[in-house]
Amino acid sequence: MKSVAIVVPVYNEEDNIEHFAASASKVMDALSYEYEILFVDDGSKDKSREILLKLERENPHISAIFLARNFGHQLALTCGLDHADADAVITMDGDMQHPPELIPKLISMWEDGYEVVQTIRETTEGVSFFKKTTSKYYYSLLNAISDVPIQPGGSDFRLMDRKVVEAFRLYPEHARFIRGMIGAMGFRQAKLSFVAPPRFAGVSKFSIRKMAHFAMDGILAYSSVPLRWAFYMGIFSGFCSLILLIHVFYETWLGNAVAGWATITVCILFFGGMQMVFLGIIGEYIGRIFEETKRRPLYLIGKEAKKRGGET
Ligand code: UDP
Ligand code: MG
Repeated sequence: MKSVAIVVPVYNEEDNIEHFAASASKVMDALSYEYEILFVDDGSKDKSREILLKLERENPHISAIFLARNFGHQLALTCGLDHADADAVITMDGDMQHPPELIPKLISMWEDGYEVVQTIRETTEGVSFFKKTTSKYYYSLLNAISDVPIQPGGSDFRLMDRKVVEAFRLYPEHARFIRGMIGAMGFRQAKLSFVAPPRFAGVSKFSIRKMAHFAMDGILAYSSVPLRWAFYMGIFSGFCSLILLIHVFYETWLGNAVAGWATITVCILFFGGMQMVFLGIIGEYIGRIFEETKRRPLYLIGKEAKKRGGET
């Protein structure tokens, strides 16, 4: 019998875990695959840990890995992908925004020969206007400046064949934008649209700060275009100063005093500001180089999953 692993990163999801586990088990029990639900607890501070330990004890299909602290969604997913041992691995959120009812469809597309089945969020019910619009424009920007196409609305709800999971493990980078990485990996990929329902319980664990950081990772990992902007800005300002210079010479030649206190102040402020912005952009890239060169482990495990047998 073929095996399927479901990898679920959770961070403070005490009110969702049991409901998710029950729904996913129900879906998997109806199919004829060996399966495992592997939770990766990303340093939860609520009762998630106790709930997961209980589920792990009671249900042979469920196991949990506990990270030593909060490493973030992308690294928790990575940990799950490193530890899942199955013919197909499905990654999904534990808050029911990735409906378990879609699992059979993902699996049947895999059985049809696709090695990656990538889901695409068409809309998210009940999500704020702010998140919707920022997400939309973010993906347009990302696609405009990145070297690889990135699917708007692409989520981390996907199925990966064992081959793809093994290939994914070869990627060492810390700053990860997994949906971009998988998209760029190749293999036979299929897409599946879905409408994400609101969370079953609790609130989003992505603060504005985490979202902004994640968005930066996406841009900086896939593009060096921001660095090129600095170059073009330099050319542009050089050109402007040339025109100004001609103006100054001309006025002097006519015997006029060159007025321009305001112009100078505005120019200094504008280009001073631009320089700071570009220094900041360069700084972001250097910071990332620094992070990567330390070669630190991607995540630390506080407690391993229980010994996994092959029970069905
Ligand atoms: N999550 C995580 N670590 C984090 C933040 C989130 O493991 O630092 C998990 C979270 O528990 C959920 C999934 O990642 O299962 C998606 O997070 P969330 O639902 O908060 O994101 P949203 O759906 O709002 O984008
Ligand atoms: Mg969610």
